[in-house]
Amino acid sequence: MDGTQTYPVVEIFESLQGEGSNTGLEAVFLRLGGCNLDCPWCDTDWRRWERLDLGEVVRRVTAHRARALILTGGEPLACAGLGPLLARLKGLGYWIAAETNGVLAPPEEWRRQIDFLAVSPKARYAGRYDEARMVRQADEVRVVVDGDVADFCRDMRRRIAAPRYFLSPCARGGGANVAETMRLLGVLNRDVPPGGNWLLSVQAHKLAGLP
Ligand code: SF4
Repeated sequence: MDGTQTYPVVEIFESLQGEGSNTGLEAVFLRLGGCNLDCPWCDTDWRRWERLDLGEVVRRVTAHRARALILTGGEPLACAGLGPLLARLKGLGYWIAAETNGVLAPPEEWRRQIDFLAVSPKARYAGRYDEARMVRQADEVRVVVDGDVADFCRDMRRRIAAPRYFLSPCARGGGANVAETMRLLGVLNRDVPPGGNWLLSVQAHKLAGLP
């Protein structure tokens, strides 16, 4: 399977991580196409990709300087056959992070290769988070403030074990609901422990004019 496996690649580029605990990390971003959700404010064009074989993906990733890799999408964990790619990149010494909406937990074989799992659950698809299939353990959780998400945040905090929980403003129409996000942080952080300790995550790469 290894040699013939292909992947739907939207883009591969190097930048600084702009969100969450790893803000500022120099990394190669590998964006895969396809998603199992369809958020109306999604800022990535995951519907257009080119199919590349494993060798070509590795060639384009290794052409960049950074030796951290952030696998993003779309929904990368919905991509069939990810195992050989993760294993190859791991073998080359990459530190690998994956960004997921958390609907599908990665198979154990994939999880072993992923050093950092960031989950961004989506409130408007709350019904899709099935206890038996969803991610239950992560390195961080980032909830986008898409409407009144207070109860969803509390629910995800209970269902996904993680050392850090973030709120991210929802960007649409050229703006972002930063004040609404700050207010919700204030509300959630008044919850009785262990309910508090929510942090703010902004898309710092966009503020910095980075891809
Ligand atoms: S889960 Fe993420 S990639 Fe998929 S549609 Fe929503 S915002 Fe876009």
